Amino acid sequence: MYFKLIDRILALGNLIGQARLAYIEADNELQVSSWNQGAMDLFGYTEDDTIGRFLNELIPISKRELNNCKKSQLLTCSHINHNGQEIQCDIFYAPIMNTKGEKLGIAVLAKDISARLKDKASLKQQEQHLRDIFGFAPIGIYHVNMEGEILSANPEYAWMLGYESAEVVAEQITDFAAQTFFDPEKADEFMFGVFEAEEVIRFRCRLKRKDNSFVWALCYAKATHDGSGRMDGFNGFSIDISDTVRAEQELKKVNEKLKMLSVIDGLTQIPNRRRFDEYLESEWKRHYRDKDKISVVLSDIDFFKLYNDNYGHQAGDDCLKKVAQAIQDSAHRSADLAARYGGEEFVLVLPRTDAGGAMAVAEKVRINVMNLEIAHEKSKVNDHVTLSLGVATMVPGKDNSAEDLVALSDQALYEAKENGRNQSISKKSD
Ligand code: GH3
Ligand code: MG
Ligand code: MG
Repeated sequence: MYFKLIDRILALGNLIGQARLAYIEADNELQVSSWNQGAMDLFGYTEDDTIGRFLNELIPISKRELNNCKKSQLLTCSHINHNGQEIQCDIFYAPIMNTKGEKLGIAVLAKDISARLKDKASLKQQEQHLRDIFGFAPIGIYHVNMEGEILSANPEYAWMLGYESAEVVAEQITDFAAQTFFDPEKADEFMFGVFEAEEVIRFRCRLKRKDNSFVWALCYAKATHDGSGRMDGFNGFSIDISDTVRAEQELKKVNEKLKMLSVIDGLTQIPNRRRFDEYLESEWKRHYRDKDKISVVLSDIDFFKLYNDNYGHQAGDDCLKKVAQAIQDSAHRSADLAARYGGEEFVLVLPRTDAGGAMAVAEKVRINVMNLEIAHEKSKVNDHVTLSLGVATMVPGKDNSAEDLVALSDQALYEAKENGRNQSISKKSD
């Protein structure tokens, strides 16, 4: 069906009003004959202001261009309007022709596009911010496609991997899994997590640098999807944590050393009482299970107080070091443990050793210490430093304990002292 021309013109007029578009008509002399509310809002002139004025004085199009206008034109411009406001607008203008093709005047349709341009400018600014972050961020950022090619990377990532620039990374890394992981099994775990499990990945790994060295990194990755929701790659982030890992390794070493120090006697550098207690306890349990014999040899330097009084405390310390070493050197089995029990007392744990064997070790210790020939002129039993030793042997069972074994060796030691010192006495309980 056809609408009447007048109805169509009215509808068009309504639409123009509703859309707040400026609509202007002028004759061939450029005298304005129609100037609507939209034109007033946009260009700042009231309808009355337009009386006696030429169109080219009211809108930013020259007289020559308006006069020469033979077909519809668009001008996008920035313009200070009559109210002093800066506006951005699209101005469409076209000749008004009669049916004979004669030009009767000119029609102008204009709209304010300031808001649109502002949105565009802010979008551009946001893009610039993102680009700055990408370029400046102290973490590696990259995008990888389904084929494992790095499509984009930032300078930090290039720097981490030892490449000349981000562009070179994108150009040369065409197999992400093979080229960027120092440990291949980590690559499998990473790629599986991203593509198969579709998880957000977060893990530590060593990244392979261009020169085949490595850098420790904390990596994050998350799959990306195209417009239709199909997975098309992933975004990755890598943070260089080499310094942290190095510090952790140092700390571990220090902790190990500390742990070692805590079980070593500071003066003699042989295991201390704590180590002896732990070791005896664990060996006791083992022998309990195996119903096997275990022996302990407790030894004590004879007349050591007199030694200290005579030669001084420093000489006493030196003597303790030599004696400790001699005791340690006297026990050869790998399971044997020599420790400083306290003061001038030392102890030996002799696993899987019966009374006869333990007595033989004790005597060896005694002879070896005597053979050090450390002068001890105040000793009442010898010219040199000597030991008294108490040997105890037990088979661990329900009715005895490791403490009983030590107590028994202490009794034996007491007897050795009572019996004249510089000797070993053995005791065993069945
Ligand atoms: P006994 O033959 O009966 O064992 O006589 P003793 O003098 O060795 O026994 P006592 O227990 O009376 O003296 C032990 C001495 O060992 C006392 C102390 O001065 C000395 N002593 C203990 N620990 C150390 C140490 O770390 N360094 C030094 N220089 N002397 C120590
Ligand atoms: Mg003592
Ligand atoms: Mg003593």
